[in-house]
Order: sequence, then structure tokens, then C-alpha cells
Amino acid sequence: MAKSKPTRRPTTTKRAAPKPAARSASSPAKKSAPKATNSCWRAASGGPSLRIGHGWDLHRLEPIAPAGPGRPLVIGGIKLEEPGFDRGPVARSDGDVLLHAVTDALLGALGMPDIGQLFPDTDERHEGQDSRLFVTAAVERVTRAGYRIVNLDTTVVLQRPKIGPVKERIRMNLAKMLGVGADRVNIKGKTHERVDAVGESRAVEAHAVVIMERA
Ligand SMILES: [Zn+2]
Repeated sequence: MAKSKPTRRPTTTKRAAPKPAARSASSPAKKSAPKATNSCWRAASGGPSLRIGHGWDLHRLEPIAPAGPGRPLVIGGIKLEEPGFDRGPVARSDGDVLLHAVTDALLGALGMPDIGQLFPDTDERHEGQDSRLFVTAAVERVTRAGYRIVNLDTTVVLQRPKIGPVKERIRMNLAKMLGVGADRVNIKGKTHERVDAVGESRAVEAHAVVIMERA
């Protein structure tokens, strides 16, 4: 539609006149500009010495089956339980909010499609899927792109149960999945001050930031 307008109006010839000038002015910049960076493998393999990635995820918490659609609450590959707390994530996979955020951070650093695009939750093959598979798949892409992980920092936002008692186990789990020492992985737990969906235990949230360097 935009192309058809100038042909209808002769006056657009005059209006169009400044455009070539603008284009020629920008042409030197075009020459020095890098090639398209949305091609995953080329961008990653020919990219900078350091790359940073951010991931975020949230899952609704519902009563655990058979009382509701929730799954057992698993965070960082560790099952969390607390007497009197019977809510878990609603998800196609196992709903591991932290591993999903970590996967997106890894993929994001590489400039690749996110976890939802690579592993659609509409795909029945991922029913109840152990989310460690997603992290492993992302780590494989990091390696293939010629990078290695420097460190990962994460925050899990959850009102109940407290993740403090299992933080170290989650950290060890993640370090193993990423193929790095535990000193390269950090897990922080926060509540949501009992406000909003997360604070009312109707949702769980996780953030992850990763830095990687050329291998
Ligand atoms: Zn998720």
C-alpha cells in the first residue's frame, strides 16, 4: 500500500526528492554496519568476546492434582514441599520456573529464539517434561556457538515455601547442568511481601542473568 500512493499523486515526485539525498547520506554508515545479527548461528559464532543474556519466567500456582491443575512444585530441579501448602505450577512441562528463566537467559545471550519458540507448550511431547532437558539443550547451543558460561545469577520470587533450605542443592544442580563450578552459579530467594499474585502464592517468578565468553 505504501508503494501505491506515490504513483497516484504526481506531487509525490517532489516529496520523494529528499529521500535519495537522505539515503546517500546514510550510505557510508551502511557500509560500515555489521551484517544482519538475527541469524542465530552466524551472530553467535562471529560475535563479541562476551555476551550477556537475561531470562524471566512466571507460572500460575494452583492446587496440585487431583485437587486442581497444578503440578508438584519443582524449582531448579528440586521438589519443594511445605506442610499445608498444596499449590504448584500450571504448565505443559514440569513448570520449573527457574530452569525456564535460565534457559531463556542462555538462548537470549546467543540471540536465539526463546524457550517458548524452541519448545512450544502446545507440543504434547513436552507433557510433564523434565525442564532440565531445556537447559541442557540451551547449553549445547552455547557450546556449538563457541562460547562457555562465565557465571549465572538468579532470583526466585516465591512467597511459600522458603527456598533457603534447598538453595544449595539447586545451585549444585544448576552448576552440573551448565557444566561449571558451583562458584559460577548464584541463587537468591525473595518473597513478594504478601502482595500481588506472587505474594498471595498464586504465582511463582524467576529471573536469570548469564554472562558467557568465547571458548
Ligand atoms: Zn515456564
